[in-house]
Amino acid sequence: MSDKSPSTEKKQVSAIDRKERLKIPPLVTPKQDSKERIKNWDEVYLELDIEAAQREASRCLQCPAAACTHACPLQNDIVGAFALLEQGDIIGAANKFRETSPMPEVCGRLCPHELLCEGHCVVGKKGKPGAIGRLEYFLADYQRKHEGWPLPKVAPPTGRKVAVVGSGPAGMVVAEEVTKRGHTAVVYEAWPLAGGLLRYGIPSFIIKKSVVDDKVQMLEKLGVTFVTNTVVGKDISVDKLLETDFDAVFLGYGASQPVKMGVPGEDLDGIITATDFLVRAGVPTEHLPPEWRQPIDPGDKVIVIGGGNTAMDCLRAALRLGSQEVTCVYRRTEAEMPGNAKERENSIEEGSEFMYLAAPIEFLGGERNRVRVARCQRMQLGEPDSSGRPRPVPIEGSEFEIPVDTVILALGYRVDRLILETTAGLEANRNGTLIIDPETGATSRPGLFSGGDAVRGPDYVVDAVADAKRAAAAIDEYIRRKQAGET
Ligand SMILES: Cc1cc2nc3c(=O)[nH]c(=O)nc-3n(C[C@H](O)[C@H](O)[C@H](O)COP(=O)(O)OP(=O)(O)OC[C@H]3O[C@@H](n4cnc5c(N)ncnc54)[C@H](O)[C@@H]3O)c2cc1C
Repeated sequence: MSDKSPSTEKKQVSAIDRKERLKIPPLVTPKQDSKERIKNWDEVYLELDIEAAQREASRCLQCPAAACTHACPLQNDIVGAFALLEQGDIIGAANKFRETSPMPEVCGRLCPHELLCEGHCVVGKKGKPGAIGRLEYFLADYQRKHEGWPLPKVAPPTGRKVAVVGSGPAGMVVAEEVTKRGHTAVVYEAWPLAGGLLRYGIPSFIIKKSVVDDKVQMLEKLGVTFVTNTVVGKDISVDKLLETDFDAVFLGYGASQPVKMGVPGEDLDGIITATDFLVRAGVPTEHLPPEWRQPIDPGDKVIVIGGGNTAMDCLRAALRLGSQEVTCVYRRTEAEMPGNAKERENSIEEGSEFMYLAAPIEFLGGERNRVRVARCQRMQLGEPDSSGRPRPVPIEGSEFEIPVDTVILALGYRVDRLILETTAGLEANRNGTLIIDPETGATSRPGLFSGGDAVRGPDYVVDAVADAKRAAAAIDEYIRRKQAGET
């Protein structure tokens, strides 16, 4: 374990040393072979050995300005962690990430690193940036494997209680952070198990479920209670929670309502939303409610409509279910695609095809009302729309047909309005996302806080974690002021 202060850990790197460091060959992240990996649901990336991790850490130029840290929503001290790793202090390096991140094993796997830390890495200006995400979860996994999940210190009990709605990254982090401050956290979750989209969305070839299991167990050890199979707003209201037991409530219910296309034939059998598909395809049946347990067989020809992380996950899940022709149909070009570039590359390696500048305008059914054909239209790029990306403009007379067995709609998600409609005094935008004070996560109703996808709409895990940390600090302050009679 390191006992050095962060300032002494950051070695100053001389100009000569910089040159030498830039000559070190970048890490080739070991992966399962693409032909083999589509036969299983194991993580694509294989374990890293310590020497390879240390060599990669020594490519870090130890920049005093640490642009990587500033680009990280959690402000992880990457330079400090890599200095420790290079010196062989693996646990110290893992703890350096844990100082700011409650989920380095999750963020290391899932963050869009090319947009955040790795996208700002100075080494990347001349070559391949440091493999920051891979080293982050190497360290966190190593520590858990050898020492178990380190339990944070918990302050003496305050006797105050916080209810958390939703057990995704936002809800789990709020539960952890308020528990550390001495409050009791109870998390309500609609699904049978905790984890949010980490369990009921993102497939196990991206993040193995044992990482989520371990996090939930660690929170239980810390004293967090999970009440699952419970829909807040239906089985119990937010008002009831506040009236009976709790001093504050965190609304971390995410954005789960799939966006539909609104084209004729969309309700045919064989047209399925991404969550429906990913949950049925990738979550063990014993972790599902009975109505979700019907197995799924997408057939040979699958198209996935959309171009983000969810679309990539669906393409790759279909390949693992044995589909032969799996195609992403996207209305813009690759340059406008959202989501993690490395997962797009993995998807291509595994055999997904991509059809850019095209969108379905109608689905035609065959026998037994099952979809048979997607009628599509070619697009061209026009002026930027509200997202800042060029608007896809249909080309008249360019219609064509794709024969299909299954169509998966991965067009994005909207926030569910159940809590909004059953809770007085909550202000929201027209699309249902909750309006909060961005500094504190406070909603328009005192005692209710929020963050993550319920506020942002579909976003990234790391932003949900950062929101949750801010909200937990504000909940603590709210409770203490309440205790002191100030609210
Ligand atoms: C397929 C897919 C792939 C993704 N891939 C990535 C990726 O690679 N990298 C990345 O950073 N992000 C990715 N994301 C986005 C990421 O998962 C989300 O941004 C993140 O999970 C948001 O966290 P959250 O806690 O706000 O919400 P969620 O994870 O959605 O958790 C919300 C929880 O609240 C529960 N809930 C909802 N309503 C109620 C209610 N009324 N009562 C009780 N419980 C309720 C839900 O069941 C859910 O468990 C992906 C998303 C999807 C769908």
